[in-house]
Amino acid sequence: MIRTGRFAPSPTGELHFGSLIAAVASYLQVKSGSGRWLVRVEDIDPPREVPGSAERILRDLQRFGLQSDQPVLYQSERTEAYEAAIRQLLDSRQAYWCGCSRSELPASGVYPGTCRTGLPPGKKSRSIRLRVRDEPIGFTDLVQGPVRENLAESVGDFIIRRADGLAAYQLAVVVDDAFQEVTEVVRGADLLGSTTRQIYLQRCLGLPTPIYAHHPVALASDGTKLGKRLGSDPIAAASPQRALELALRFLGQSCPPQPELPELWHQALENWQLAKVPRTAFTL
Ligand code: GLU
Repeated sequence: MIRTGRFAPSPTGELHFGSLIAAVASYLQVKSGSGRWLVRVEDIDPPREVPGSAERILRDLQRFGLQSDQPVLYQSERTEAYEAAIRQLLDSRQAYWCGCSRSELPASGVYPGTCRTGLPPGKKSRSIRLRVRDEPIGFTDLVQGPVRENLAESVGDFIIRRADGLAAYQLAVVVDDAFQEVTEVVRGADLLGSTTRQIYLQRCLGLPTPIYAHHPVALASDGTKLGKRLGSDPIAAASPQRALELALRFLGQSCPPQPELPELWHQALENWQLAKVPRTAFTL
């Protein structure tokens, strides 16, 4: 199978330095292995979407010379595939309807299983949850090392279809990674905590599990996620070349300065080493 990586931005704002790092790392990792790199717009959550954001993100990627090897996939066009997966999970009794609202959940956030054996009297179907087994799930992240999590203890049965009828992020990402035949997921460590849920879902749906690598998330000097503070975002101010140099530095790569963007990409590909990506962020 051909090596396939992807960058999956949510159109909730601009391409900021934090997301540029995910784009650059996923691109260099798969391209240095002669694989293909895909872009998927995760426009699955209309309430959170910022109009025009998807177009601006795609335009900015182009400005950096980052080109998807296939037409961009839009999650808003994938509803049927998500519904089919949800149906499969309901039919096999791996998922069930839940009538609980968020305010009924305990402070721990771990779903107590109220609707696991059927809706209690007086409750109406709202969301759909995946039944999780009480067992550890482990994988080795190529940057963060071994991860082990028992979902029954950390989250409980989790939502795969929201009360507003939309597929949950975890479900959509798993269905689409399989559909696009993604073999490696390189993304920010803010999503490390989602990975065991995604691996569990893959197993329930009989889908393959890709390799995972979670790079650190860029932080501003006050410790907030950099992307949230546009004013401090280097890519808003810098040339693509300067921003790419900063991204490579953040990713621990040694890359001699180059006069032009194409040469910089060429050198970055030649020198790329995932093993040099630090586990934790330093503040820029
Ligand atoms: N769309 C997600 C985000 O922008 C990323 C999903 C993923 O890489 O799995 O945070």
